[in-house]
Order: sequence, then structure tokens, then C-alpha cells
Amino acid sequence: MTGAALLPLAEAQQRLLALARPTPIVALPLGSCIGHCLAEPLTAARLQPAADLSAMDGYAIRWADLPGPWAIIGESAAGRQFDGMVRPGEAARISTGAIVPEGADTILVQEDAARRGDALRLTGDGPPHQGAHIRSAGHDFEPDTLLAPAGTPIDARLIALAAMAGHGTLPIHRRVRVAILSTGDELVAPGDPLPSPAHIPASNGAMLAGMLARWPVDAALPPIVPDRIDAVAEALAAQSDADVIITTGGASVGDHDLIQPALARVGGSVDFWRIAMRPGKPVMVTQLGKSIVVGLPGNPVSAFVTAHMLVLPLLRALLGASEVLPQTRELLAGSPFPAVGNRQDFVRAQIVDGAIHPLGNQDSGALHALSQADALAIRPANAPGAATGDPVACMMLSPEA
Ligand code: AMP
Ligand code: MG
Repeated sequence: MTGAALLPLAEAQQRLLALARPTPIVALPLGSCIGHCLAEPLTAARLQPAADLSAMDGYAIRWADLPGPWAIIGESAAGRQFDGMVRPGEAARISTGAIVPEGADTILVQEDAARRGDALRLTGDGPPHQGAHIRSAGHDFEPDTLLAPAGTPIDARLIALAAMAGHGTLPIHRRVRVAILSTGDELVAPGDPLPSPAHIPASNGAMLAGMLARWPVDAALPPIVPDRIDAVAEALAAQSDADVIITTGGASVGDHDLIQPALARVGGSVDFWRIAMRPGKPVMVTQLGKSIVVGLPGNPVSAFVTAHMLVLPLLRALLGASEVLPQTRELLAGSPFPAVGNRQDFVRAQIVDGAIHPLGNQDSGALHALSQADALAIRPANAPGAATGDPVACMMLSPEA
């Protein structure tokens, strides 16, 4: 298998996503829906506004009566319906959001009028046209209007819209259960003393948990797994409840790279495992019971890049998102990018004055350089060098990346 051809990333993504079955649909109160995606289309259950409403504080009048004067016959306030009828020469006091009484067709804003007792006269310019300052019934949406398709990410605006459309809950795919297994004899939990120079802090688990924190994901972070096939097999078997098991380390073909044999021992069959990308070549995907196992490389930058390119798209698919692959946008190179070998290159890069520059240190273990990157410049396999001014596809690294 070592000699097998490298799989293009796009193909690996498609194969991985083909395994994704969105989690079961549940109804969640609106306030808990942020970060989820609509599991079903959102349609309006009501007419909005349900009647012609005033958009201003003022007086409901008849356009034909301008320039007044008027006799005030009552008040239409928000939440309280006014049953009277506005007849020629009459006006009703009205507040923002209140129903325009029958007979009236225009709002005279209060700044343009003077009231003494029940007598009202025009003092300003008056309404600019018939119907001024009225939000007509149904001008936002009508019953059964499709407000958003299934798969739309739920943000604060969609929550407000759903509430106004008559919904108190939304159908969403339940939170995804993820287990993050860090493997390696050299790893020590972050902050713990390192017994020898041969040991290193385990940074991948905390990084991955951080990447997932803004998603509706319940992430389990069990203790570091030593490089023993029985320990790895046991750790994998213990996570049979997880929708996704992410492993890091041990994904290559060294003597201590045990993910593949451990997966085989617990009944998983590896779907693919070498991707034509740099960093990140050794990645494997396995179905194990009802879990999808994504085996990421141990090198921290490789784990970061492959998690963005594979794990996050998988999670979005499990959450029922319509857009799952990372978004890229083109920036112009501010300095030259080197020619690319036979693997798609993910270059840590900085944006200066809108132009993209490769960082000096591209080592797949260099976390300081990674932390200084604003974007990953994505260069196709076998591409020649990019000159200053050439367009380069970039995936932005947001502060939460
Ligand atoms: P491996 O894939 O196990 O051969 O690991 C590749 C490199 O990544 C080695 O230098 C490991 O020490 C390092 N590494 C593995 N796991 C982690 C981790 N959780 N955090 C930081 N570095 C790691
Ligand atoms: Mg290892």
C-alpha cells in the first residue's frame, strides 16, 4: 500500500463526504440553534406584518384631507387594536407598530403636526406621498413563503426571522459526538512536566478541540494513547458512541505507526490513506461500526491543515450544511511563491496591504510560523512558481481557526 498512488485532495474529500449521514433531526428552541444548520426548509407560518402598521409615531390620516386640519378621534397603540374608522377630516393618534385604522391611508409624522386638545394641524412638510410611513400587510413575507432552504447555517438573523415567522423551535441535526485521540509515546499532556528531551507537549488534541469549539459538537478528549497496538485498539473501541473519531499521529508507515493495524484489529477497513497534499500526506479514513475514523498526521501543522480540509467539511456534512468545503478567495502574490512538487501545497502566508506573501518557515511542525499566518495559500500540484502580482487561491484563517 506504501507505493499506492497519492489521492488528490478533492477526491479524498468526496469519498469522505460520501460516508457522511447527517445526525438525526431534533427540534431545538431558537436560543440554542446558533451554529446548527436548518435540517428542513424554513417556511413562514404567518403573514408579516399581519396588518398595515405604522412605521412612525404620528397620526393616521386620509391623504385626500391634506393639508388638514383634522379632528382626533382616538388612538391606535402597538398591541391594542383601534376599532374606530377614520372619516373625512378625522385623524387617529398612532404609535410605531400600531395598526393603521380603517379609512386612514397615510401617516403624518408627529414632528410635522401640532395638536391642541383634539384639534390637529399641519406644521411641517407633511407626508411625501399617499401611503407614507405604512408597512403594508405581508410586505416582509406571506404564509408559506420559503424563507431559507434546508442546510442554511443558523445565525442570529435567521433566529429572528424564524421567531417572526411563527416558530419557537427549529429542526436541526443533533450535535455531533467527536472523540479526539492523540497517539504517541513521546506525548505529554499540555502543561505537565516533560520527563526527558525525547518528550513533547501534545498540542494536537487541544488544537482540534479548539477548532471544533465553535461548532455544535460534543468533543471528548481521552488521555494520550501510547504506541502499543492493543492500547490504540482499546482506545478506538472505547469510542464506539462517537460519530467521528479523530486520531493524530501514527498514521504513517513507521514501526510505531499503529493506527492502521489497530483499526484492522477492531474491525475497521481503511478507505484511503495517502493524499497528494503538503503538509498532510498520511491521512486515513475508516468506517468503524457507526463511527467515521479520520486518522490525521501527527505533525501539528499537518494536523491543522488536514483538519480544515477534511474534518471540518465532514462535520458540516453531519450537521446537514449545504456548503461544506472551505471557501477560498483569490489574492495577488505580494512576493514570489516557489514551484510546487507533485502534491497540492498549503503555504502558510501573510497578508500585507491586501497582497499575499509566503512565510519563511514552512516546516510541518512549526507552530509559531503557523500562528503568524493569515491564510493558507493553496497552490496546485506541479504548478510553476507564482510571480509577484499573480493570483493565488487563499483560505483565510479567521481568528478562531
Ligand atoms: P507520527 O505521525 O506519529 O509519526 O508523528 C509525526 C510527528 O508529529 C512527530 O514528530 C510527533 O512527535 C508529532 N506529534 C504526534 N502527535 C502529536 C501531538 N498530539 N501534538 C504534537 N505533536 C505531535
Ligand atoms: Mg507517533
